This record gives sequence, structure tokens and C-alpha cells, in this order.
Amino acid sequence: MTIATAPQPKSWIMDIAPYIPGRSTTDDGRKVVKLSSNENPLGTPAAARQAFIDAATSLERYPDASGSIVREALAEKHGLDPARIIYGNGSDEVLHLAAGAFAGPGDEVIFVRFGFAVYEIAARRVGATPVIAPDKDYATDIDAVLAHVTDRTRVVFIANPNNPTGTYAAKDEIARLHAALPAHVLLVLDHAYAEYIDGNAQDAKDDGGMALAASAPNVLVTRTFSKMYGLAAERIGWGYAAAPIIDAMHRIRLPFSMTIAGQHAAVAALGDTAFVDHARAHNAQWRRWFSDEIAKMGNAGLRAIPSQANFVLVIFEGKLTAEVAYKGLMDAGYIVRWLPGQGLPHGLRITIGTADETQGVAAALRALVEGA
Ligand SMILES: *Cc1c(COP(=O)(O)O)cnc(C)c1O
Repeated sequence: MTIATAPQPKSWIMDIAPYIPGRSTTDDGRKVVKLSSNENPLGTPAAARQAFIDAATSLERYPDASGSIVREALAEKHGLDPARIIYGNGSDEVLHLAAGAFAGPGDEVIFVRFGFAVYEIAARRVGATPVIAPDKDYATDIDAVLAHVTDRTRVVFIANPNNPTGTYAAKDEIARLHAALPAHVLLVLDHAYAEYIDGNAQDAKDDGGMALAASAPNVLVTRTFSKMYGLAAERIGWGYAAAPIIDAMHRIRLPFSMTIAGQHAAVAALGDTAFVDHARAHNAQWRRWFSDEIAKMGNAGLRAIPSQANFVLVIFEGKLTAEVAYKGLMDAGYIVRWLPGQGLPHGLRITIGTADETQGVAAALRALVEGA
């Protein structure tokens, strides 16, 4: 056996393709309208910003490692048991905790093609094998997920609504998935965009995940303050599951993953239901408007995948390619997300911005279509 001359990373670590965040400047360094990271275009609830400022008086203190004010506020708002709430540095950390506590070398972790990029990183990081279930016209295909379950499956990650597609699996589909999964498989339902779901019936607004997390021994729902609550900078995410699931995750959690400012800002944001209602209505209105505008470009091969999130995935199947549109939009002052690394060289994910931003990016896209 030869001795390495330098520290060797685990082989599965080097198999990870680094996460590529949304950009905020152009190739030539100009700052432009950022529609690449699904941030809230309406900002942050004012009380959350004030809570953050107030926290500047206690920078020498460690945060409360138990996150008690956040857990109490969430429990109150959602009718949950505070002892069963896990939390982390964004829900990204909670997703990593799920993979880390329940999967390892030799185990399989399932997620969908065109799923959230963090799932593959979380699986590979712990040496587990990622298993990709094919999509059904970009949407989650429950039968395909179930067809990929084996004795080695340990975790299934489903974002609902999904990112980067915006697609949504209805309550009966999620119930069917859960009912057919073996008991040893942890079903992680990532509800990062749950607040954006638009529907008339209560069932249409809720995929039933939280009720499953409350009652079933193998369901974890994750949520975040980064999107609807406008606190992406503060990195506050959380999850809910049966007590043994939460207990395992706590054992590998970093002790001080939520900052003091973040905890206070999150509690304040939760209290601002007017902000959330306004942001939801704004998003629904402009998501519909933007999707309709894309439909008008259908003869040029553009297509908006039906979205229940705060962004729209636009597919380019005509003369104007997604790559050319991406560069053209950047020249016009709009950064969107082009995702060739996620199997979507023919798609752009565009966040719903303010009214001006949304109308502006649609007009820029139309100019590119007409110039192609
Ligand atoms: C944005 C996003 C998250 C989480 O973000 P955090 O900022 O880490 O809470 C989780 N899942 C999906 C699908 C997302 O798009």
C-alpha cells in the first residue's frame, strides 16, 4: 500500500459538484436586477429588521442553542409540539442533518430529476448513493419515485413546490407516496415555498405534509424564513418530525447554528401576517401575469412550467435558446438562473420580482424573441 503524500478527501466528497449560488452581478461586474435566487422582492417585514438592529447590543453573547423563542413562536403559529422542532442555519442545514442522521455509505437517497441541488450534495457528503427518479414533464412523478425504492433506500427528498421547476404534487399524491413507502424510509418534504401555494380549497393550499409529520414516524417537513419571510441573509430554517427523528438530528447539529439576530428577526417576521398576505397576493398576481406573457411567446418555442412558487421555469424549445436569452437578459440588466449543471441547459428559472422588475424582464425577453 502506498502512503499518500497529502491528506486525501474521501472519494465521495470529490464526487460532489459544488453548489452554484444565484449571481448578483453581471460578467462585467454591473449590479443589475437579481431574479436568480428566489428572494422576496418586497424585502423584509419592518419588525424583523428592527429586531435584527436591536440584537446589535448583544454581539458578545452566544445565541440560545435551543432556539427556544423560535420554536415557541412556530409551535404557537402552526399548532405544533415545540419539542419536535429542529432548526438550523437555513433549511439547507436541516436537509443536511436529515441525510447525515439517516444515510451513509451503501445507502440510497432518492430525489427527482430537476430536484433541488442541495439533495445530491447532502447525500454525497455522507457517502450515500444518490438515486434520481425521472420527472413527468418536469413535475414530480410519484410512481417513478416509488419504482426506485429498494432495501437500501433510507431517505426520499421531495420539494413541494419543487425548485427549480415550481411544480406541485397535490395532497392525494403525497399521501399515496407516503402510504407506499417502506417504514424504514424517511420522507423529507421540503416546504421552502409552501407559503406561495395558491388555491381555493384548503386542500389545494396544503399537501398534507405537516399533518403527516405530526402523526407518522417517518416524515420530516422542512421550512424556511428565507423566501416568503424575506430573511435569506439570516439563515433560519426549521423542520418538524416524530421525536426520534428530531433526537437523531440534534446529535449532529452545530450547537449555535441560529444567530441571536436571526432568532429575534424570525419571531418578529412570524408575527407580521399582513406582510405575508401581501407578498403572497403580489406573487400570485405577477406569477400569473408573467406566465401569461410567456404563453404569448409560445410560437417562438417558449413555455412556462406551471408554478406554485415564487419563480417560473421557462423552457426554450425554439430558435431563441436559453443560453442566448440568459446572456441577453444580463445585457438588459436582469440576472436570472440558467441551470445547465442541473440538466436544464434549455431552461431559465426567473424569480417573480416587483411589478416593474417583472414587467421589465418580460419586455426584455420579448425583445430577444423578436430579435432572434
Ligand atoms: C431556497 C430553498 C431552500 C432553503 O433555503 P434556506 O435559505 O437554506 O432555508 C430549501 N429548499 C428549497 C427547495 C429551496 O428552494
